[in-house]
Amino acid sequence: MDKCGNGDPLDMADKSSFLLVPGQSKPRYNSLCSDDELLEDEGDLGYEPVPDKRDLWIEDYSSLPSSQNSICLPITGQVLARPPKADSAPQLTPVIKMGWLDKNPPQGSLIYQRRWVKLDADYLRYFDNEKDIYSKRIIPTSSITGVANVGDQKFEVVTHNRTFLFRAESDSERNEWVSVLQDMTGPARTRVSRELTLNPLVTCEMKGYLELRGLRSKLYTVVCGDKVFLYKNAEDYKLGIGITSIDMNVGNVKDMDRRAFDLTTPYRIFSFVAETDQLKDQWMEAMRNSIAEALSNYEVAEKIWGEPANQKCADCDATKPEWAAINLCVVFCKRCAGEHRGLGPSISKVRSLKMDKKVWTDDLIQLFLLVGNDRANHFWAANVPPSEALSACSSSEERRRFITAKYREGKYRRYHALFGNQKELDNALCINVQSNDVCETLALVFCGADVNCDTGNPDLSSPAALAMHHGQNLQVEFLTQNRNTEIPRSEVKIAVHAEHYMAPPSITHNGFLFKTASMARPITERKNKEEFSRRWCVLNDGNFNYYESDKIATPNGGLKMREIVCLAVSPPETHGYDHSFEIYSDAERLYLFGTDNPETMREWVKSIAKSFIPACAEDLLQKDFERIGRLRYKDPLNLESSKVGWFCLVASTLHVCLEDGHGQETIHLQKLLELSRDNEVLVLVERGRTLYIEGERKLDFYGWASAIERAAGSSGDTLSQQQLTEADIPVIVERCIHYITQYGLTSEGIYRKSGVNSKIAALLEAFRRDARSVWLKEGEQQVDDVSNVLKRFFRDIEEGLFSQQAHNWLSTTAVSDESRRISQYQLLFNNLPRVNKATLRTLVNHLYCVQRFSEMNQMNLHNLAIVFGPTLFQTDGKDYNAGRVVEDLIQHYITIFHVNEQQLKTQLDEITYIIKLRDNLNPKTGPASGDFICTVYLEEKKETAEQHVKIPAAMTAAELTFEILDRRKITVKEKDYWCCFEVNEKEEIERPLHYQERVLPILHSLGTDSHLLVKKNYSMEAMLVYLASKVDVTKHGMLKFREEKSLLGLTTGSFNDRYFMLNQTSFRLYKDVRSNRAEKEWPVKCLKVYQGIKKKLRPPTCWGLTVAYGSDKTEKQEKQQWYLCCDTQTEMREWFATFLSIQHAGLLWPAEWVKSRAASRSAPLDTRLGNVSLIPLRGTENEMRNSVAAFTADPLSLLGNL
Ligand SMILES: [Zn+2]
Repeated sequence: MDKCGNGDPLDMADKSSFLLVPGQSKPRYNSLCSDDELLEDEGDLGYEPVPDKRDLWIEDYSSLPSSQNSICLPITGQVLARPPKADSAPQLTPVIKMGWLDKNPPQGSLIYQRRWVKLDADYLRYFDNEKDIYSKRIIPTSSITGVANVGDQKFEVVTHNRTFLFRAESDSERNEWVSVLQDMTGPARTRVSRELTLNPLVTCEMKGYLELRGLRSKLYTVVCGDKVFLYKNAEDYKLGIGITSIDMNVGNVKDMDRRAFDLTTPYRIFSFVAETDQLKDQWMEAMRNSIAEALSNYEVAEKIWGEPANQKCADCDATKPEWAAINLCVVFCKRCAGEHRGLGPSISKVRSLKMDKKVWTDDLIQLFLLVGNDRANHFWAANVPPSEALSACSSSEERRRFITAKYREGKYRRYHALFGNQKELDNALCINVQSNDVCETLALVFCGADVNCDTGNPDLSSPAALAMHHGQNLQVEFLTQNRNTEIPRSEVKIAVHAEHYMAPPSITHNGFLFKTASMARPITERKNKEEFSRRWCVLNDGNFNYYESDKIATPNGGLKMREIVCLAVSPPETHGYDHSFEIYSDAERLYLFGTDNPETMREWVKSIAKSFIPACAEDLLQKDFERIGRLRYKDPLNLESSKVGWFCLVASTLHVCLEDGHGQETIHLQKLLELSRDNEVLVLVERGRTLYIEGERKLDFYGWASAIERAAGSSGDTLSQQQLTEADIPVIVERCIHYITQYGLTSEGIYRKSGVNSKIAALLEAFRRDARSVWLKEGEQQVDDVSNVLKRFFRDIEEGLFSQQAHNWLSTTAVSDESRRISQYQLLFNNLPRVNKATLRTLVNHLYCVQRFSEMNQMNLHNLAIVFGPTLFQTDGKDYNAGRVVEDLIQHYITIFHVNEQQLKTQLDEITYIIKLRDNLNPKTGPASGDFICTVYLEEKKETAEQHVKIPAAMTAAELTFEILDRRKITVKEKDYWCCFEVNEKEEIERPLHYQERVLPILHSLGTDSHLLVKKNYSMEAMLVYLASKVDVTKHGMLKFREEKSLLGLTTGSFNDRYFMLNQTSFRLYKDVRSNRAEKEWPVKCLKVYQGIKKKLRPPTCWGLTVAYGSDKTEKQEKQQWYLCCDTQTEMREWFATFLSIQHAGLLWPAEWVKSRAASRSAPLDTRLGNVSLIPLRGTENEMRNSVAAFTADPLSLLGNL
């Protein structure tokens, strides 16, 4: 294996020879895709050789420096001609380590595979051999979560869901791999390399499946930036683990016949076939764009590399460095760039040669050609002790130390003769900038000459102006880039953290502000004007300082912009000054500033935000935010490590730029499913996503958490200011309606009877505080209290449900022609604001359902109209117009709201089902566990894994499982058998619900010791395999059996061997094999089989089943329960599988699990609607009027008597 940096010529020759592409004319066909799993045995993969071109290329290639450029190769010192374009190297990123390793065998095989493995800053790749250009597997280093030594010269590389096992030839070799991999993927490292690859310009242009000629399965192909990536499937793409990447700077796209096209490279032809003609055009276009991008990306790099010294990293000598510090005039490699970034932009302004195309003006490029790494190092690295020098293989730690010493401390610089003499330095600078000697300027500036010094010439007051006057553009360029550079100081030894990407510091702002003393705790009370002092504040490229006055040169204090973690704008008139804002620092200090001028305030806020928000989050700056800053967060896919995100709060919307996200995302806080604060973690649950925001520091986290909680609450008293559901219905309305639907439809006089006033008020208050946290539970709330909460909510809501249009609705009742009246209502309905519309529709749907069950609840159309007319229109109920509107809406519900009658029928069926179910349950038995809002856990029972799910009557276990997985954004794969389990903690048993099983009846039957848990069913695969092998699903055999016997209130019993037979109808127990008469017999359908036996019973093996027997028909009080123990796990699984198979007619698992998931998602969630004849309106107009006239001002107090 290559050792680093030794100059042994033999060694070198050896290495160079690996790096050559094979001269053999027949390429290896199977090297690309025949990896471990699916793609093993194809004969001819259809990579066509390109003999002529290949040979040519090889000729060229051999005359060039190795462009594989292992940075471990010895440096020859010789600079060769620039490579031709097509050859700007298949791999520009320097290789950090490579060598032969054995990879663990694919499943089922015992033979290790020998692989050529290469590691660079971005990827770990392995190849069939050292000559291959295209890998068999490509693993981004950023997705590696761990690297561990596992003995026997082996080590494993762990990614989020896959572990790769490698074996080296020796322990030392293995240790080297582990250490270099750990260094590459350690937490700090990952962060830096992610930031460096985080480039908004690189977007994924096109992705999808493409057939690669000769392969049986299609490959998931992604055109992204200047590369094309091939993945085995979309799943792998999401996980980031690919087969190979194709650098498009050497690519060419050719149209072939029909749906085929070729991507040719000097090494291989990829013959693709698109799914349609149209897609083929799109693919070809996307790949051509990618080639164009690749070529243009190299434009700047090629120019900069025109100076031979720039072809090696200024710090570690790695070849083809792609990054530069535009103020220091050095070019360096990606790994060194990470450390430069850590110095902060006031020391090193890091830019990419490939990606930051815009900064590379002609002058800047010329400057880099003029200075170049050699001349720059003549200054920066004049005195490097050999022991401290970096090599291309140095670790991150070594780099950090060296680069900090070199540029922050100036430890190795060549001291200028004038060093220490400020006046002379400045003077020398002013003279020198008039010449073209930029290197001298560089030496002067980095030894302390002030680029902003006074030239003594009022017309050309700065060195830059002098240089400009003398036509020295490159001097001007250099001075401009260093306007705000911190001069190296050897005494400064600050711990350097490459924490986060910093914005380019080019913001300047100054003026007077009023400031209080900084604080270490949140501001809770108003600060009067007297507590503020007037300060001259200067924001200048990365520093914010405040001074006693604008005449004084020494600041009173200040902070660096990179220390700012949050900026919050207070509402006007919070403090003595009308406008104020707070700055939170890294060091847990809070600074409060005020002014009476809104314009001043706006400008300061803008400038400060601009100077600490990085480019990757700059979109946030466009917002009229009240709070902006950085927070750490976690997502459920990777709870171990947290990442940095940029957040900005605008009213009730949280805008976020996440480290791994794609641009800016928005979270509507009023529509969250859940918001909770758990110590120092704020949990935001949206449909399809959960975000954990962590309190890295207390002070700003506290501010954020309170602001987010406030924003997620109701912001006012109108409908649209309430906490809303995804369907734009106030949460309070939805929860009340669901509760009444579940428990109140059979309650006589529902909505008419009054509840208990104090309870109603308390519940309403709880809803107003945070509707999302109110879970209505049977037993805790009475239906009449809940129904009155709903009514009172509508009565109190500002602007009312019908908004400003109320009088138009009321006057519509005068239209006598029914169809004209209906269309008038439709018109009015369509003109309602969004939230009002959704709410009205939902409410009328609910009232429609209520009156459909009026035989039980006595609330017919008329009665409901009497109650809801005055409530919704907020009138006194003296005339019946309001009631008429409600009556019309309910009666013509289907027409006015364009209701799908089939859906309405389904909804009514469900309600009937719920009513029946509840009738059957003895309300006296069992605790109040029948919440229709149910708590379900994911993977384990703990608070953070808790989800509240509404369980509609028709919901199946599979649907519930999907709902939970969706919410937590969990990707489901074909062989992941996610199931919903019924878990009984007291009995220590569990049972996977059958996927078609309805959840609601189970919920109603669960005791307090039980809960629902969604997790993977690890025995499912084995059970399916077992069942597939059986022709006739029956089973018999010996089991250890124990029956619970109750003697004098004590349960006793022991396990005894018994012979059992299980067939399609019954489960029989025999005393022994020879018995011909069963001692006991149970119908299989009436058995509930659970896995597990509680330990207290001392089961003889750990493979037990608990069986409950209860007949559906008889309401027997006694429930039989007994226990079976198997000798092995396999045996237990077989019994269990047989039970399930018989009970569910052989269907244990849906044939197309993943597809059924998609189907369940697209199924309409909205289950309102149907065609049912309406209950006729009873009574004449007069009778109705009389009944309403009986009401006085407060209908609530009267309704109870109706
Ligand atoms: Zn380097």
